[in-house]
Amino acid sequence: MELRLADGLWQLDTRLGGHEAVNAVFLVEGPRPCLVETGPQLTAPVVLEALAARGLGASDLASIVLTHIHLDHGGAVGELARAFPRAVVVCHPRGARHLADPGRLVAAAGLVYGSTLDTLYGRMTAVPAARITAAEDGHRIDCGGGRWLRLIHSPGHAKHHLAVLDERSGVLLVGDAVGVQIPGGGPLRPSTPPDDFDRDQAIDSLRRFRAARPSQVVLTHFGPAGDPEAVLAAAEDRLRGWCEAAARAYARDPGLDHIVAALLDRARAEVGPPLEPDRDAIVQLMSGVRSNAQGLLGWLGRQAAEGPG
Ligand SMILES: [Zn+2]
Repeated sequence: MELRLADGLWQLDTRLGGHEAVNAVFLVEGPRPCLVETGPQLTAPVVLEALAARGLGASDLASIVLTHIHLDHGGAVGELARAFPRAVVVCHPRGARHLADPGRLVAAAGLVYGSTLDTLYGRMTAVPAARITAAEDGHRIDCGGGRWLRLIHSPGHAKHHLAVLDERSGVLLVGDAVGVQIPGGGPLRPSTPPDDFDRDQAIDSLRRFRAARPSQVVLTHFGPAGDPEAVLAAAEDRLRGWCEAAARAYARDPGLDHIVAALLDRARAEVGPPLEPDRDAIVQLMSGVRSNAQGLLGWLGRQAAEGPG
């Protein structure tokens, strides 16, 4: 299923794990087309087919931008770069060297994803270093015909995160920086995974998004999130709430299971009526309480090590 977000801006469904409406990539059309996100390696054929269906030939794509280098967003970058040999690959400076040499990234992902690496995501193959652009905050990409994309550094979910603003339409593609909201999967929830989740950076990033005055906020998981002001305010509230719940649990008992239990209570209270089982499973997959608890535990541990203040 493809969704038109604005004139010449499309959301394409990667059908992660065979599921609709879980994981997206985005195509900006024009004289110099740009793909934002690649999806994971295992759904590269779906993305290639969707791009072909939109009339994109092998020599057409000018750039590929990753919001960050987690495997569900950038895992197919090697396959896509091969399929579109003229495209430059653009990412945050803290992600660039991993794209040229993904060994450590894949090993770390194995610890987080476990066996779903084989069943759901795949791994990542390298992109030649000469094709990688490490984009500073404010970097602009020329799609031709007067259309520009502006990249907004937005660490927090991960230190190598950026968002993509289509200056023409005002649509802001936020990756995972605002959270996860799966259709049928309950309200927006924070995404605070290991290894480098940071609350203050995440909140600062949400404020940078508000300052950009987007016309729409679009999540990679999944789609337009609603009124931008309201969504960004809700994202900050939820994030603060989860961080406080985790910090209270941590103060009593810093074990992972204890923090998981506290977050489960909180998530249940926010969701309201129980979800359909398949949607609940997907929410757990994309923003699972255990992975969020691990990220929060890491953040709390770093804070404790730094001491008060
Ligand atoms: Zn992520």
